[in-house]
Amino acid sequence: MFNRQHAGGLLTIDLHAIRSNWQFLSSRLSSSSICAAVVKADAYGLGAIKVAPALAKAGCKHFFVAHIHEAFLLKPHLPIDAFLYVLHGPPPGTEKDMADNGLIPVLNTLSQVYGWASLARVTNKSLPAILQFDTGMSRLGLSLEEINVLADDPSKLQGIDVRYTMSHLTAAELQEHPSNEAQLTLFNQLRSKIQNAPATLANSSGVFLGSNYHFDLVRPGAALYGVAPVIGMVNPMKQVIRLQARVIQTRHIEIGTGVGYGSTWKASSPTNIATLSVGYADGYFRALSNHSVAYFNGIPLKLIGNVSMDTMIIDIGNLPDNAIGPGDMVDLINENHTIDDVANNAKTIAYEVLTNLGSRYYREYIGD
Ligand SMILES: *Cc1c(COP(=O)(O)O)cnc(C)c1O
Repeated sequence: MFNRQHAGGLLTIDLHAIRSNWQFLSSRLSSSSICAAVVKADAYGLGAIKVAPALAKAGCKHFFVAHIHEAFLLKPHLPIDAFLYVLHGPPPGTEKDMADNGLIPVLNTLSQVYGWASLARVTNKSLPAILQFDTGMSRLGLSLEEINVLADDPSKLQGIDVRYTMSHLTAAELQEHPSNEAQLTLFNQLRSKIQNAPATLANSSGVFLGSNYHFDLVRPGAALYGVAPVIGMVNPMKQVIRLQARVIQTRHIEIGTGVGYGSTWKASSPTNIATLSVGYADGYFRALSNHSVAYFNGIPLKLIGNVSMDTMIIDIGNLPDNAIGPGDMVDLINENHTIDDVANNAKTIAYEVLTNLGSRYYREYIGD
């Protein structure tokens, strides 16, 4: 049994906001371009089996996960006509598992291409796939030399139904970054070497680089979940999560009293403090020690001392006495204090904040 009352923290996930974000991104595309949804890593920690069906209801038909196992878990929750792509492609020997389950691999290496083509020949079927090109990230995808091997002998692709050619942008959140245009140019060159397949390049941030970057399909993840897609621009996405932590104990402390491991914070005047039952094991990073804030009825309360594994401490001295007590909830993430704010204070990115939200929160889905 696990209910709201048992939870040290409450994570509320707004499926309506996720759908609105998808619709907003879709509305930026021309009619020839489709908006997919990236739901890898359990929809960036928010629960793929909730998020993906909610998006499907809004009209999303194309879904990306990273691992074949993620695809197996998600597939039963998707409409029968949805397309489910696996970014890492088939690990060697899993081609048949993938094909039997109707999954569409992203083929990143020549050996993945040959494995998929060979299964197609053996089974005498045309097998769908995405062909990924490396245009500057040096992470996944075929190099120019490898693409030339396929271009010089098209029979090597025989049996593969290339649904899209694909690449991935390295710095799309920085609109002036020179690599955006360089990658776009190279992608167009590489595409021209392979049969006339549709193409996909843009992640969330890429959607905001202009229609040249949209091609036939865009692949947003982060922006769906409320992450700011463009650095230096007001975030146009809807806030998706609210994270609340429960107060376990409050106390009055005198001047000079140390707080938390190592006493990295000491009271410079008498104050009241509260201990919350969320810590770094819940993904509230230790790097946030002395660098974060919680909210109670819109009033900011500083995080003081080091974040512990299961707890952290806030200064509630600016609230009236007894305004807050055991069992009350304070907001750690909300529209005043976003995932991007938390990320900045922890010197990381909102993607990492989302994907670290722990399994101890009681999760409530609203807006379905
Ligand atoms: C994760 C990922 C995406 C989604 O990127 P966001 O920045 O979260 O929108 C798109 N394409 C590929 C290949 C990815 O790995």
